[in-house]
Amino acid sequence: MALTLLAYGWIAYDADVRRADLGIGRYAWSELRCGCGRQASHLEGGFARLAGADAEFDAGALEGHVFSETVLYEPAPVVISACLDALADDLAVTARLHLLALLAQLSSAQDQPPGVTNAGSNLWSECRAALRKGIPLLYAEVFRAYPKQAGRENAMVAASYAFDVLMMIDNDAQRVERCRSAAAEFLAWDLRSKASFGGSASS
Ligand SMILES: [Zn+2]
Repeated sequence: MALTLLAYGWIAYDADVRRADLGIGRYAWSELRCGCGRQASHLEGGFARLAGADAEFDAGALEGHVFSETVLYEPAPVVISACLDALADDLAVTARLHLLALLAQLSSAQDQPPGVTNAGSNLWSECRAALRKGIPLLYAEVFRAYPKQAGRENAMVAASYAFDVLMMIDNDAQRVERCRSAAAEFLAWDLRSKASFGGSASS
């Protein structure tokens, strides 16, 4: 039984990486300067691990490269687009959790890296624009029906990350509240009512 599960896990992981890989190569990573100072092309492998549900690689592993607390680095808008591309694919719940957690992190960050003052560059608005292209997809993520083996907790955390992002980026506050009401118990308890500490729809 364990061997069967192990084999199944490997096959699922491999398939997920290959599918996610399809979108990753579309972006000019090498033209972007990573938060660590290197070319952002070194992020391609990390992103594949993220979208491939690598248990040892989550959104936190991209800190210092794509974001740092409230700071956004140059690859952030491309990473957002790549996350949305990957979410449009049929990935496992763990991969979706990693991608949605990263989107939630990037939707809450709003500062430029220290020293970046070039006119015309506004990472925050570039990230908002990239995130807003994913609004329909993110609403679908809130209501995504997972197979039972995905686990209720995983499904709730994934839905909550998606809703968290929507609260930050969707200017249609009424739509956000309709979603909150309809999703109800699909969301973490602290997101189920507007008065709680779940984020802000004010941006
Ligand atoms: Zn880096």
